[in-house]
Amino acid sequence: MAKTPIQDGIKTSVELTHPERIYWPDDGITKQDLLDYYDLAWRRMAPFVANRPLALLRCPDGIGGPRFFQKHAWKGIDRHIVEIADPEDKDAAKLLKIEDFDGLAALVQSAALEIHPWGTTTDHWEKPDMIIMDLDPGEDVAWGKVVTAAKEIGERFSALGLTSFVKTSGGKGLHVVASVEPLATWPHIKDAAEAIAHAMSADSPQTFLSVASKAKRAGHIFVDYLRNGRGNTAVAPYSARARKGAAVSMPISWKELDDGIGPASFTLKNAASRLDQSSSDPWADFFKAAAPLKA
Ligand code: ATP
Ligand code: MN
Repeated sequence: MAKTPIQDGIKTSVELTHPERIYWPDDGITKQDLLDYYDLAWRRMAPFVANRPLALLRCPDGIGGPRFFQKHAWKGIDRHIVEIADPEDKDAAKLLKIEDFDGLAALVQSAALEIHPWGTTTDHWEKPDMIIMDLDPGEDVAWGKVVTAAKEIGERFSALGLTSFVKTSGGKGLHVVASVEPLATWPHIKDAAEAIAHAMSADSPQTFLSVASKAKRAGHIFVDYLRNGRGNTAVAPYSARARKGAAVSMPISWKELDDGIGPASFTLKNAASRLDQSSSDPWADFFKAAAPLKA
């Protein structure tokens, strides 16, 4: 990978050991490359990952090796990855959060190649600030249909008075994320997401599924609303994916969303130009757009 100049040059006190260690072998992407990418992304990414409980996909030997999906601390964890008690379950093993770029650098150092936050912050733990809809196309679904489906979800959120934003998953689909004022509790948020998914499958049963059914998946788009329960997670905006091709989950604008942008179009290699300070940020108004979820 061509050396990305550390453009933002955010200071971190976390030292990478073996910065030349390869995390994505087919793409030749190293630990240092990942940190350089996050250095560019951090300004935009921070409010979506800082001070939120996190689940991490750790791949100590890179994407070809063993992988661990972890919500709890491990031996020798860096002090910039902070343990936090779940206020609803004080006896349970502590969860994890980061607070700043040092925390993100510590995640890179720890080979956390995917970052999956809760849809809330620890300031208002019981009141999520987003609703996440995950579109999972079955085999044989034309990409244009997924694009249309995302736009339909955007319209359904609008009808509820909510502004929503779209990102590539970095895998196979798209995520549509509505910005909500942290006033409603988890069950209300999940009910709203479920109502949208069920309405879509009721209105267009030949296109949408709202229940996970492997048998029926082919030819359908699964509208997964189950990211919205307490303790559930979804991959963060700007997070890398531990998959071949080194795609990232990239926020895009509704205007950009068309047949030309695929679910894995944006990668650790090609993202830099979108992230420099002179490029527009399609999710800049995410938290400004927050509106209450009406009953
Ligand atoms: P795709 O476009 O491929 O569907 P995605 O990000 O929507 O990508 P997955 O990566 O399959 O979907 O993740 C599914 C959900 O399960 C995510 O919300 C994630 O937080 C969670 N998850 C991922 N890996 C694990 C795991 N090993 N164990 C438990 N939960 C996981
Ligand atoms: Mn998905």
